[in-house]
Parts: sequence; C-alpha cells; structure tokens
Amino acid sequence: MPKINVLPKSIAELIAAGEVVERPASIVKEAVENSIDAGATHITIEIQRGGITYIRITDNGCGIANEDVPKAFLRHATSKIEKAVDLDSISTLGFRGEALAATSAVSRVEMFTKTADEDFGTHYKIEGGEEVLNEEVGCPDGTTLIVRDLFYNTPARMKFLKKDVSEGTTVSAIIERQALSHPEIAFKLIRDGKQTLSTSGDGKLASAVYSVLGREISNTLIPVELTFDGVKVTGLVCKPVSCRASRAYQFTFLNGRYVQSGTITAATEQAYKNSAMVGKFPVFVLGVEIPFETVDVNVHPAKTQVRFSDEKRVFTAVYNAVKNAILSGDTRPEIAVAPPKNNTFLHMTAEQYRQTAVNLPIQEAKQQQKKEEVKQKPINPAPEPVRLKSDNTPFFLRDEFKPNVNEKKAVVDIVKDKAEETPDAVQSAPESQTVEKEYSPKEEIKLIGEAFNTYIVAQKSDNIYLIDKHAAHERILFNKLKENHVVESQSFLVPITVKLIGDEYTAMVNNVSLLSEYGFEVEDFGNESVVVRAIPAMLSKEDAESIIVEAAESLAQKGNVDLERIDDILHTVACKAAIKAGYITSDLERLNLAIKVLSDNNIMYCPHGRPVAFEIKKYNLEKYFGRIQ
Ligand code: ADP
Ligand code: MG
Repeated sequence: MPKINVLPKSIAELIAAGEVVERPASIVKEAVENSIDAGATHITIEIQRGGITYIRITDNGCGIANEDVPKAFLRHATSKIEKAVDLDSISTLGFRGEALAATSAVSRVEMFTKTADEDFGTHYKIEGGEEVLNEEVGCPDGTTLIVRDLFYNTPARMKFLKKDVSEGTTVSAIIERQALSHPEIAFKLIRDGKQTLSTSGDGKLASAVYSVLGREISNTLIPVELTFDGVKVTGLVCKPVSCRASRAYQFTFLNGRYVQSGTITAATEQAYKNSAMVGKFPVFVLGVEIPFETVDVNVHPAKTQVRFSDEKRVFTAVYNAVKNAILSGDTRPEIAVAPPKNNTFLHMTAEQYRQTAVNLPIQEAKQQQKKEEVKQKPINPAPEPVRLKSDNTPFFLRDEFKPNVNEKKAVVDIVKDKAEETPDAVQSAPESQTVEKEYSPKEEIKLIGEAFNTYIVAQKSDNIYLIDKHAAHERILFNKLKENHVVESQSFLVPITVKLIGDEYTAMVNNVSLLSEYGFEVEDFGNESVVVRAIPAMLSKEDAESIIVEAAESLAQKGNVDLERIDDILHTVACKAAIKAGYITSDLERLNLAIKVLSDNNIMYCPHGRPVAFEIKKYNLEKYFGRIQ
C-alpha cells in the first residue's frame, strides 16, 4: 500500500500558485485590481521582456500598514472578506486573498508601501514564498510592487510561456480593458522602456477610448445611456457604417469589470442588424450594471465569462439601449471635401496667378487637356434611363412617395418654387393642390436635382445631401414591411412554375407558410419545382420568377433563425419593389423621397448596410472655394 504523505507547505503553495499565476498578465491583472481596490487614481505599469523578467506596478492608493504587510502575502489573507455571507455580494475586484501569496511563491517579489498615517513606509522582500527583508523606509503614500524572474523556481512552467512579445501584448490587453473600465484612473503602461499607453483619468469614457482605441475609431462613436427593467447600460458604440471586419474592438464591462458575455455581444450585434454590412462587427465599449445577486461571475476560472440568472432581461436592455443610440445618435456619413493638396492656385495672390497663367507653355497645356479627356472617358457607359415597363403608374402615386401630413408644407413650397422654373413638375403632381398649409417642417428641405438618374441632390440646413434613390426607396419599403407585416398580394390568372435546385427547393418548400404571411402563395409542385399563384402586390409580375429564385437562395443560406429568414424575405421584396438606379423620376417624387430620408433616422442604410445618403457640409465647400480659411 502506498504511504500517504502530507505535502510540505512550500510545495502546496507552488501547486496553488500555478492555478492563479499562469503568465505575467495574470500577475499584472491581479496587482492592478489590488491598486484599484486600494482607491488609486494613478497607476503605472512597467514591464520588461513581456513581464517575464520584470513587472513594476506603482499606485497612489491607501497602502498597507507595516504590521499587515507579511500577512498580505499569506494565502487566504485578504482585507476584503470578513464573513462567508460577504461572498454573495462581493463588489471589489479580487477577493480570493491569493494573488500576492501565489505571485511570491513563483517569483522574487519586492514591495514598497506606505499608508497616509504612517511616518515611514515598509520595504519588504519575499522570494519563492520566503521572506528575505522587512525594513522601514522613506517612500511616498501608496504601493509599489516589483515582480522579478517569474517561474525562476519552477522551470517546467517557463516552457508554457509564449514569446516575450506576445506575453507583453497580453499584458497590454489587460491594461487596456482596465483603463476603459476606469476612466477616472490615469493609467500608464511602459513596455521595455517605451510608454505605449497613457490615459488622462479625467473620468470621461470618451477620453479613455481615445487613448486606447485611437482617434479614428473614437470619432465614429455614439453615446449609449439607458436603464431598462433595472438594467443600466452606458457606453459608446460605433455608427453602423464604421463596423469592422473583426470583433477585436468590442469591450463589455459588468458592474465595472471586464467580462465576456455572449448575451451582451449578441444583443448589441442584433441592434445593428439591417443597418450594418453582413460580416462586419460593431465597435463598442459598453458598461452594464445590474444587481450583483443576479450574476454568476465565477463560472470561468479567469472570471471573464459571465452568466446571468435572467439572460433575456439583459439582452432586451442592451438591445434597446444600443438601438436607441443608433437611431438618435447616428449621422449620415460625410464626403469630406478638402482642398486638393497640390492646388497651388489656392495659395496665390491674384498677381501671382496671372503671372503663372501667362507663363504656362501653350503646348504643355494642350497635352494636359488631352490627357484629361482620355481620363474622363467613361469605361462603361451609363445605362439609358428607363421607366418600369410593367407599371406605368408614376412613382409619386405610390404610397411611400407621398408626403405625410408633416411633410406637406415643404412640398407645397417646392412645388411653387419649381412651378416658376418647370411647369411640368406641377402637372405631374395633381394632389399637391389639396395639401393643407398649416404644417411646417422643422427644417426646410430643398430639392436641387439629380445626378446620373441615380443620386438625388437635396439641401437641408447647412448641408447638401446625395441620396441613392434605390437604396433609399429600398430601406423605406423594408421599414414599412417590417412594421405592417400584412402584405397585400396579387394573384396570377395563370400560375407560373419555377424550377429550383436541391437545397433551394427544399428551403422554399419548408417556408411556404412563412412566405404566405408576406403575400406569396407558393406550392410544392414536386420534381424540384414550385407553383407560384400570387406575389406581393408591390412587385412587378415580370419579376416573379427571379424573386422566387432569389428568395429560395437566401432561405437556403439561412439556418433556422426565424427573424433572419423573415428579414431576408423582406429584403428581397423591398429590393425588387424599389425603384432602380437609372430610372426616371419627377421632381416631386425626388423631393418626397428626400424629405422621407432626411427626416427619419431609421433610413440611414439599405438593408444590406450600404449608406442611403452622404452629406457635404457647406462649411467644407466654402473652405474648398477659399471663401474661408
Ligand atoms: P485579495 O486582493 O483577494 O484580498 P491579494 O493577495 O491580492 O488578495 O491581496 C491581499 C491583501 O493585500 C489585500 O486584501 C489588500 O489588503 C492588500 N493589498 C494588496 N495590494 C495592495 C495595494 N496595491 N494597495 C493596498 N493594499 C493592497
Ligand atoms: Mg487581489
């Protein structure tokens, strides 16, 4: 029978340490959390060789009283829990009373610490768990912890460390999260003698985000603030147009701590659905606050994965908060019109200009002109403008091109305006005569015209807008379909048969009843084909076959998520029913569309995430033309 031995204390400590200290970043995380718990407002972290040979954390927190210093390095020594019930409502960051003990078991640790009411501070050294120095010393209030030679006494653990650079990067990531969750603390990170991060500690999340994520990203962020059903959600999220190709810029904090929560991420991403491009992910820094009893933060040893006892409540709150922020805080993307860098004329006096013009060799100027002409020749000539063949109703008679009551006054004004220039426009707008005049729109929207039969040019306040007619109409129809759900349908006198293939056929047949809610009457005809008896009234009958094929394609790609399948059907319908780029529209139609787009923040992107409109600021034009400097 093997003999049972009780492990010597030092070995037991080493085993325990392994669970807490995996790499330099784990030490940094615990130590910085201690500094935060100590009430520090300035925390400086310095590492060398990724933290493997050297870590120093300096804070201006409460410090540790001389007689408590050795105790702090004992296992289960903590000033943060007094009785077991406290465990349920822990609000401080670390609470296991293990970090210092574990760190000192596997490295050489040195500490300088002083409380405000002590005259002298303490200089303490502990190596491999053995105290080697404890003396009085003159030092500032607060604590400096130095950790050298990690795993010097457990070489086997060294093998699990990655390259210095990647250990250092993990440390940086930890500090970035801490800096983002504590904008009121000024953080500094120094890697191998170089300062790589510095936050101001001014208490503003936007400042911390600026320091951590950089200017480009922080310029695109919108504030979030909403308390919903007891769940408070605050922070910053990006505009849908600034979504990124990866989830690298997503930060979630729960009651002040960095966490990973599938629920919070999913709720946020859901709020971008139909506004952001597929395959792009929102940038966000979100804080969620809920009562501690309703969270289970200890499901993962690194304490970053969280579960909620009421996931749905958290999901709804986050979704609403982010959706609200996007609806109210998003602005249209701007076409930054900036003077070309080499426009020398702009900086010339009139005299210099005349001089230069006279001196330009004529031959050279002609050659230049030729080159320009070549450049300007379009590679693909624009398609000829067309009207819908199958539907001769002028677009303005369609519902979504009619102004609503609040928009009517603007239309009257423009129609009057336009009447002086183009009498045709008024003729094509018979209903404008019955418009009531007592309503006035908040800001006047003026139609300037249209480019390439595709981009409506409109003016509102001090901005000019270029509106993609198709994208705008598509979004308007999509929103309407989502809101109303009931879709009128039109039947075919002679039903049509559509041939589909494999998965697409199966997907179509499986979704027959879902499709019927949106105006489609489709039946399985066997042999990989379906019979179509009716389609939504807003679609052109000629498009029926291609719509069915497209709907089948997208249904086959989607899994079993109902919402996604419905959205996809609605996308297909909206896209097919929307007016195409290149089609001719009247002034009134364009104006109505511009008014709709510019007075509704939910018409920002087409359902695939392309922008509906771009903005050009008057201010920028004036700069360009040199009217202002
Ligand atoms: P825990 O944080 O779980 O209590 P630690 O081993 O991390 O356990 O720390 C032990 C104790 O040492 C803490 O409870 C705290 O009283 C003290 N301490 C550690 N670091 C600091 C610091 N930077 N400033 C003030 N006190 C500290
Ligand atoms: Mg701790």
